[in-house]
Amino acid sequence: MVELRLSGVGKTYAGEVPLRALRDVTLTIRQGEFISIQGPSGAGKSTLLNQLALLDTPTSGDYLIDGVGVRTLGERRRAVVRSENFAFIFQSFHLLPGRSVVENVALGLLYRGLGHRRRLRAAERALDFVGLGRKSSQRVEKLSGGERQRAAIARAIASGAPVIVADEPTGNLDSRNSDQVMELLSQLNRRGSTVIVVTHDDRVASYASRHLRVEDGVVEELDRTAPAPHRELRPEPMRGRPSRLRVRDALGDVWQGLRARRARSAALIACVALAVALATATTGLSTTARFQVSDVFDSQRNQLVALAASTTSANLAEQALSAQSSERLRGLAGVRDVAVLATHPSVDVTARPSAPGGASLQLVGSASQTLPESLFTVSSPRPLTSLSDDEVILGSRAAQTLQLGPVIASPVVWVDGRPRTVVGILTDAGLDVGLLDSVIMVEARAADYSQPQYASVKIRVSPGAAQQVAAQAPVAWLPSAPQSVTVDAPPDPMTLRAEVEASIQAVLYTLTAVAAIAALTLVTTIMVSSVMERTGEIGLRRAIGARRVHIRVLIASEAGLTGLLGGATGAYLGILAILAITIGRGWQPVVDWAAVPAGIAGGVAVSLLGAVFATHRASRIEPSEALHQ
Ligand code: ADP
Ligand code: MG
Repeated sequence: MVELRLSGVGKTYAGEVPLRALRDVTLTIRQGEFISIQGPSGAGKSTLLNQLALLDTPTSGDYLIDGVGVRTLGERRRAVVRSENFAFIFQSFHLLPGRSVVENVALGLLYRGLGHRRRLRAAERALDFVGLGRKSSQRVEKLSGGERQRAAIARAIASGAPVIVADEPTGNLDSRNSDQVMELLSQLNRRGSTVIVVTHDDRVASYASRHLRVEDGVVEELDRTAPAPHRELRPEPMRGRPSRLRVRDALGDVWQGLRARRARSAALIACVALAVALATATTGLSTTARFQVSDVFDSQRNQLVALAASTTSANLAEQALSAQSSERLRGLAGVRDVAVLATHPSVDVTARPSAPGGASLQLVGSASQTLPESLFTVSSPRPLTSLSDDEVILGSRAAQTLQLGPVIASPVVWVDGRPRTVVGILTDAGLDVGLLDSVIMVEARAADYSQPQYASVKIRVSPGAAQQVAAQAPVAWLPSAPQSVTVDAPPDPMTLRAEVEASIQAVLYTLTAVAAIAALTLVTTIMVSSVMERTGEIGLRRAIGARRVHIRVLIASEAGLTGLLGGATGAYLGILAILAITIGRGWQPVVDWAAVPAGIAGGVAVSLLGAVFATHRASRIEPSEALHQ
């Protein structure tokens, strides 16, 4: 037996202009009554119903349920008392789309700590009662409006709560369906349930035995067509323990919810998966790319060392260009090839004897008989194992300036008036592009023209040996004056490699961070909009016994599960991407399997972070908001 006693209850909605929606209502409702509440729109009917069903707190007066004051109860106790005593039927049904009829009805018992099976059994019985037994496994979307409201009545019945509260239950129904719904409510009333119906329809109100009218927040008692019945019999026994949720049922509910909103769930999972795939692929690729960079470094760079020294002193010039110096350089560990060159002042070179139109070219003497192939590219009709005294090699630009004929014809040039046969054209001298404007002959003959200004050495070294060779070469070359040698070695490969690797990593990590932020933003947006859309559903959950914490857990679990699925998908796609890219480029793929758990954890983290705001927003939805929708 549940007795509801309002005494002097008022409700004022705060605002710029406070709105007194209920004034001084004193009213007692006993178990088994069938009450209609009528009145114009905006009169305060829903507000009254909210106070009666503990969906809202009055601003003044007292409310006793079975003699116990409930106005000052905390959120937790209110949820318990509400769930113990009240079941709800709304104008807009509030059935959860995408779920079966029976699952929707069983939801009425979700926050009662009951197992799934017991809930389903109670739901089936309630569906039989409202005549929907045969439709229990259909999706709710397939039901007609009347059937939907009957399913909502079944949800109310299944909960076994003794007081059924209905706000405009027939507002969306035609008269035939309205009658069916009211018949069902009458039947429940005859079984002992208290029924309170807000309606603007006299025909609906006529099913009630007691009639209230609300106008401007004032409640007026109309006729009472029959004396208040005293029912001994309680309605359906209340099942389970109010405001309890079992973990397994909560997870089942979350899973069903995700399945029911397939498109949105897929969008969320795709978001998370994309971010995780990008992160997995970029971190994975950064490892692979680093190996790749290292290879390139070892094979290409760091294999050339250049030395130079001024040779203004004849002594130094002799030492720099001596065969012994070359031998010492060649003997250093890690040296593959050496070329020692002497640079002389410019000479006049012409393509014909004593003709104008010649060019002033750098004269370069080679201390050895030839230019090593590993350091210079020379195009020549014959292998250039050695240069004889009257033979020269011309730099390609010099040859162009002189408009020299093909080398195969052994063209002759006049160097300061002396004829020399051109046996090769130097097309590539590495970084020393000045050589392309030079005329090169053996040093013994170049010395006939002038003293060298400076000497230089080009060394091809084994991979990784550049630094060591650069350190030792000056002494090997000019033991008497190593300090006068300038060394041009590539930067320390370790440092440079580390720098390049670091910059590659920085780029990839930036990409990852951008992806994560984008995913976070998207997830947040989708989740918040989803919560807004589900205000009615969440209000309903609160009404039937969910506490704020249950709602938080619901939204966070949905996010966690989404993150789990997205993370796993993303890690899988990321690894596929790494394999596709590395194999496509012929690199050695480096897959770190720790990326899978890391990806899943990352997905869950992104998703939970994205859900923070939505979770907060959802937990603030009040049970009374179920009525507004
Ligand atoms: P009814 O159900 O009779 O149509 P309500 O009880 O919903 O009327 O509303 C009574 C008055 O209180 C209306 O003027 C309405 O605008 C106002 N009202 C209802 N709910 C709120 C609220 N949450 N905040 C502020 N004003 C509200
Ligand atoms: Mg209303």
